[in-house]
Amino acid sequence: MAFACLAYAQTSAEAAQQYQQLARDIFQELVEIKSTESGVGSTPAAESVARRLISAGFPTSDVHVIGSNERKKNLVARLHGKRASSPILLLLAHLDVVEARREDWSPDLDPFKFVERDGYFYGRGTQDIKDGAAILTANFIRWKQEGWVPEHDLILALTADEEIGGDANGVKWLLENHRELIDAGAAHTWWRWQRQRRNQPRCNCKRPTVATMGH
Ligand SMILES: [Zn+2]
Repeated sequence: MAFACLAYAQTSAEAAQQYQQLARDIFQELVEIKSTESGVGSTPAAESVARRLISAGFPTSDVHVIGSNERKKNLVARLHGKRASSPILLLLAHLDVVEARREDWSPDLDPFKFVERDGYFYGRGTQDIKDGAAILTANFIRWKQEGWVPEHDLILALTADEEIGGDANGVKWLLENHRELIDAGAAHTWWRWQRQRRNQPRCNCKRPTVATMGH
């Protein structure tokens, strides 16, 4: 029994480490996609997350890359629960970032090059809010790969144009055009989630961790 418990603890610790590394890899990839207004928009980031989800086992019918124009697409994915009925939980973060000029940053840092130094992450979006997008994505991948089925559906929406708030704002566009994809009994934005963790610093100084749902 003790041996079995030890083996399980080792296995779950290894799995946690594996998915923490995955979260970090996704985080780096997202930060290095220049998803600003003057850059490539949000579509390449949405497509990257979609590829990862599909290769983790999500059916293509549950993964959508859609938006108001070619540059401003959103990612919406669904993990089906045991019951088809509400309430459904919508988990939200956005894929776009505010402009960042290379000359405004320290000479040894590029805003679109992900750097980990002395326990801190550097790069545009490390705090707002590609950390959240990466952690949520890694969790969805883990849940799917480990075969976890929640009580109710969980929806992941990583949206466009949150910072600009224009016509391509992802949440607004999805509500107006594909409400059925994000209709939920409750929604949680990563930003709010982050602020609720009162005892932890509101900075990008922690590794992304693959956590179980806490809210
Ligand atoms: Zn933001």
